[in-house]
Amino acid sequence: MVMANPFEGKEVWFGVGSQDLYGEEALRQVAEQSTEIVDYLNSTGTIPVKIVLKPTLKSSDGVKQFMVEASANPNVIGVITWCHTFSPAKMWIRGLEVLTKPMLQLNTQHHMEIPWETIDMDFMNLNQAAHGDREFGYIVSRLGINRKIVVGHYTDPEVAEKIATWTRACAGWDASNTMKVMRWGDNMRNVAVTEGDKTEAERVFGASINTWAVNELVAAYEAVKDDQVKDIIEDYKAKYDVAPELLDAKYDSLFIAAKEEAAMINMMNANGCTAGVDNFEDLGALPQLPGVGPQRFPSEYGFGFSAEGDWKTAVLVRIGAVMGYGLEGGASLMEDYSYNFVPGHEMNMGAHMLEVSPSIGTIAKPRLEIHPLGIGGKADPVRLVFTAAPKKDVVVVSMADMRERFRLLMNVVDVVEPEGSLKALPCARALWQPRPSLKDSAECWLRAGGSHHTCMTTSVGREAWEDFARMAGVELAVIDENTTPREFERELQLSEMVHRLNNRH
Ligand code: MN
Repeated sequence: MVMANPFEGKEVWFGVGSQDLYGEEALRQVAEQSTEIVDYLNSTGTIPVKIVLKPTLKSSDGVKQFMVEASANPNVIGVITWCHTFSPAKMWIRGLEVLTKPMLQLNTQHHMEIPWETIDMDFMNLNQAAHGDREFGYIVSRLGINRKIVVGHYTDPEVAEKIATWTRACAGWDASNTMKVMRWGDNMRNVAVTEGDKTEAERVFGASINTWAVNELVAAYEAVKDDQVKDIIEDYKAKYDVAPELLDAKYDSLFIAAKEEAAMINMMNANGCTAGVDNFEDLGALPQLPGVGPQRFPSEYGFGFSAEGDWKTAVLVRIGAVMGYGLEGGASLMEDYSYNFVPGHEMNMGAHMLEVSPSIGTIAKPRLEIHPLGIGGKADPVRLVFTAAPKKDVVVVSMADMRERFRLLMNVVDVVEPEGSLKALPCARALWQPRPSLKDSAECWLRAGGSHHTCMTTSVGREAWEDFARMAGVELAVIDENTTPREFERELQLSEMVHRLNNRH
């Protein structure tokens, strides 16, 4: 039960722009110094995806070949461009028009300091990214192509960090475009925000979202072998404090919960799915509403999960799990539940009936417990109970279908410790202080029509989601420490206009 490394075998291609004007010696130096830069970036240990330097780009045909190959190769998840010398940008048009992968424009230089005493015309002509990258930037902007821009000397740690975050977003985008979401049942009856246009979601995010009958899950449940269930129970015992009553041989609740987890995972694996949703209103002959299993989707399998048929949040949780792979923390379904309005102690409490994942980090070892559930009319479900560990710069992200487009909405929050025991609350939960404040955050969230379901990521923060949204060409409204409700309202109006004018999205 270990999530597959989503960066394994993936590459980012590095294309260096130049031209034939400067002669062989200059081009040799361009290639040599580009190698030095790429080797340095790969050696930092910060960037999780291998950067591969391709031959220097000197002509329209060369650029087009580079872009066609990058677009066609399933292992290439992004393209970095840099113009070491001047590179007349008309030669980039044909290539840029066929590029289908995310792009990062790196505006760097081989030298950090201007060689004050020795700089001559030859040096200046060879090292003119300040000039060449502006020419390149013009054509990319003119063509309306989204890209991340990173500026700085290649040895500046911030440059590697920004590239690293972008490569994580590239992996998230790759995962989104290869995602199959398994829906067991439909959305919860009468709920509005969990609905959405699945055809449009496949066009925008590449994710294929389809329904499987709950009867098939019941059949998969019946087909699970005891050995698989026992292995999962051993994993529970190794990772969680298991309530003694669950280990009592007279009761089979734990066995049933583990068997449900096995059935869901088996069915998803058999169909190549990496995210799933269920609905407590439609469980067929399943004995319990699945609890611990879905809680372990992100933490043990790297899968997305959301409840009540909310496939949009399941998509986000899968993307969050991929982007944050290898970092401390993770991704989970979250739902706003209760405010603490006490002055000076304002906070928001998020939870769900069962399905919040320990992937986001826990204060203490999660405890596996069994309690009745007031809705659904099934046997008492087994669930992990824990409180999320405090952490700064966490984000909650929601996706809403605004009819003619999807809107992502993000709040930067700080997860904090609860101010009491919460001992009577039999579910996983997180407490956070939203930025800029509880009141302003909630006002802006309501204004934007964000969902009550969110994906909380404690591994990657706002920059990764901003990079992702840019790749998807999807609206992303951000509430952070600098937000004021008045400006935010205006921002939403402008954003609405921008997205309506932009006919690509
Ligand atoms: Mn819910």
